[in-house]
Amino acid sequence: MNAKSIIVTGGAGYIGSHTIIELLEQTDFNVISIDNFSNSSEKTYERISSITGEQKRLTHLNINLCHKDELINAFKNINNIAGIIHFAAFKSVPESVSNPLLYYHNNNESLVNVLYLCKEKNINHFIFSSSCSVYGNIDKLPVTEDSPFQPAESPYAHTKQIGEEIVKSFTRFTRGFNSVLLRYFNPVGAHKSAQIGELPLGAPTSLVPIITRTAAGIIKEMHVHGSDYETRDGSCIRDYIHVTDIADAHIKALDYILKHKNKNNVSLFNLGTGNGVSVFEAINSFEKISGLKLNYKVGPRRDGDVMAIYANNDLAKKELNWEPKFNIDEMMLSAWKWQQHLSSATTN
Ligand code: UDP
Repeated sequence: MNAKSIIVTGGAGYIGSHTIIELLEQTDFNVISIDNFSNSSEKTYERISSITGEQKRLTHLNINLCHKDELINAFKNINNIAGIIHFAAFKSVPESVSNPLLYYHNNNESLVNVLYLCKEKNINHFIFSSSCSVYGNIDKLPVTEDSPFQPAESPYAHTKQIGEEIVKSFTRFTRGFNSVLLRYFNPVGAHKSAQIGELPLGAPTSLVPIITRTAAGIIKEMHVHGSDYETRDGSCIRDYIHVTDIADAHIKALDYILKHKNKNNVSLFNLGTGNGVSVFEAINSFEKISGLKLNYKVGPRRDGDVMAIYANNDLAKKELNWEPKFNIDEMMLSAWKWQQHLSSATTN
């Protein structure tokens, strides 16, 4: 491998796999994915190769990022790394509420180890997956990047607040290091090929996979977690954003720091569409595009949920020259096509 490489941690995961596709299609970089399949499948790599037609430019390593020595050793003889996109993390709010230490240990220790790798191999460009959950229960909407953090509503959100601080501090005290923190709102949908998409190993906890599995009959009945919030229809409001739009923002963020377009060593961007969608509106959108009636009931509020959050995305549009392309109906349609692909793969 003579060309430069980008390391993608969590490359077999949901956003990681979509980003690898964009890296292979939009850039000349080789890609080295690191994933231990804790919430993903090795088969994803075959699907990426089949979608992109690329066999050689993608290599992958099965390493637990909490094992620092193993990580550093694996890269002993690998050089010419232009940057790291760090996705690998646990991401379930309810799981983090029931097992906080698992989240503090996994998410923050792996981040520190990946930064060790940057130091060891003199890798100076770093992109960190953050989350809109860092804002907490915020009053002023849409939320801008300079909004002060409210207390984290879950241990997951807290690991992202801490993670951002670690990256900021490391960047500040490491000469030549440049980082971009991307705060994702609610990534949903799947690749246009319908060959890859969100594939949680256990029961899903996110709204859109629960909707599509309910429609497919895998989940008998789903619940709306609370209809007594002070929102337009009583259900929580989120800013759902298509995973391909998120992936595309990573390519632009990489270009931004590699070409020295950044104004500060740490740059921070919201990645959302700017549109708030309630749980009932999401369900209506799905019913419209699929022509199906979803079997759902209203249940109690869920611990760790914020009431409403959506992005002001002006900064990412201006600085990264990024524009989200998918609306909620298109997001639901692509998620539904992916679910249908999964269902037909298991019945054939
Ligand atoms: N939600 C719901 N029923 C479900 C799963 C989620 O009503 O079965 C709601 C959840 O309470 C939240 C919204 O859908 O208000 C988005 O939840 P998700 O877990 O997808 O994202 P997050 O809460 O992390 O933003």
